[in-house]
Amino acid sequence: MRNWSGKVVFHPARVARPGSDAEVAEVLRAAGEQGLRVRPVGAAHSFTPLMATGGVALSLDRLTGVEDVEQATGEVWLRGGTRIREIAGLLAPHRLALPNMGDIDAQAIAGAVSTGTHGTGLAFTGYSGIVTGLRLALPSGEITECSRTHQPELFEAARVGFGAFGVILAIRLACVPAFALEAVETTEPAAVVLESFLERARAADHLEFFWFPGTLRVTVKHNRRLPAGSELRPMSRLDRLVNREFLGNTVFEGMCRAAVALPALARPVGEVGSRLMAGGTFSDSSHRVYVAPRRVRFHETEFAMPLDAFPDVVVEVERAIVASGLPITFPIEVRVAAADDTWLGTSSGQESVYVAVHRYHREPFEPLAEAVWPVFRAFGGRPHWGKDHDLGAEEFAELYPRFVDAQRVRAQVDPDGLLLNDHLRKVFGT
Ligand SMILES: Cc1cc2nc3c(=O)[nH]c(=O)nc-3n(C[C@H](O)[C@H](O)[C@H](O)COP(=O)(O)OP(=O)(O)OC[C@H]3O[C@@H](n4cnc5c(N)ncnc54)[C@H](O)[C@@H]3O)c2cc1C
Repeated sequence: MRNWSGKVVFHPARVARPGSDAEVAEVLRAAGEQGLRVRPVGAAHSFTPLMATGGVALSLDRLTGVEDVEQATGEVWLRGGTRIREIAGLLAPHRLALPNMGDIDAQAIAGAVSTGTHGTGLAFTGYSGIVTGLRLALPSGEITECSRTHQPELFEAARVGFGAFGVILAIRLACVPAFALEAVETTEPAAVVLESFLERARAADHLEFFWFPGTLRVTVKHNRRLPAGSELRPMSRLDRLVNREFLGNTVFEGMCRAAVALPALARPVGEVGSRLMAGGTFSDSSHRVYVAPRRVRFHETEFAMPLDAFPDVVVEVERAIVASGLPITFPIEVRVAAADDTWLGTSSGQESVYVAVHRYHREPFEPLAEAVWPVFRAFGGRPHWGKDHDLGAEEFAELYPRFVDAQRVRAQVDPDGLLLNDHLRKVFGT
């Protein structure tokens, strides 16, 4: 098996696809008896080897869909294997939607929640911030529910828990009435955006920007929540096909390949790429606006910093990339998020600015990571759990006030390390 970027390759002894909660519990019990470790796998879209195992790879692809909707509160129980791209259709009959989304919707909801996947917007948390309940299969095979009021420590740890505290069978999410967004995607001078971004992000619903290193303009994406009943102007099929699919993916892939052979092309690719990313103005149901196809594969690292690290952290990351002399054809992506109260979420206890750095998948990622990681660390950055980083338990104990509690809860629920792999042993320091 391999992850989306192709960098993480692993060979499980067995792939299990249970069709019920009881079968998940049985997989865990049987693996324990056979001395095999287990790793839950969602859509394998993480860049870190969180899901890698030589034991049992446990997929919840057969455990999908809505279990229950509490119309009065907007809370919805979804099975853990449900792909995010299915959720809008599942919620439509109830006129509900996810309050915010990231760049893509290929992930399993349990996988996205487990790494603290997020979008942008200072009034919005990532997915784990809207989780109000979990049903877990514990390593012992016991099935249990937890929430803020019932087994709160297990809940706080497992909300961003990388599948190390139990297998998420179902998740209760606080959804909102369905809504539409207007997207305005333009390019602007980098200097202007660096100066004004925080103020604009505070006033906007969802604001982010992409900066191709070494270029002078950035692509700004602003999504505004529209009042109910607003007239919508969706992107036409032709625009979607030509701009999003052909230019944004097929042509961009060709340009990235060319730049591998001829590194001097990297800068012009960035300049053209910046314009290709700006889709103009359109409006549509929220899930069609938040998400765009990402078919050109890349490697990625992303860190969350306290908001006041902006703009310095972005300026220094761009400088570090340019100074490295590496030909980079992918942009720096800058987003923001509200503070949440998870124990291990990257925005736990602080409003954050997220800065992500990418490189085309056919090029080595390590030199780029080594150029930017010291900058992120100097600004107190917390790495996205699903994106490349090289930190371990010692650093996490400094970055997260409740990390020691998470270590304690993990040791209680999984004393034999059934759900661990080498990567998680380093994370938890076990
Ligand atoms: C093209 C691309 C775009 C992306 N865009 C964004 C973005 O906009 N914002 C962002 O924050 N991140 C983004 N990511 C990162 C991605 O959202 C996370 O890595 C996410 O965790 C992947 O979900 P997955 O379903 O593929 O889970 P996997 O990568 O398969 O697994 C992730 C973790 O979840 C655990 N897990 C999976 N299922 C379960 C379960 N049922 N119970 C318990 N644990 C489970 C796994 O064991 C693992 O620890 C992007 C990644 C890619 C490749």
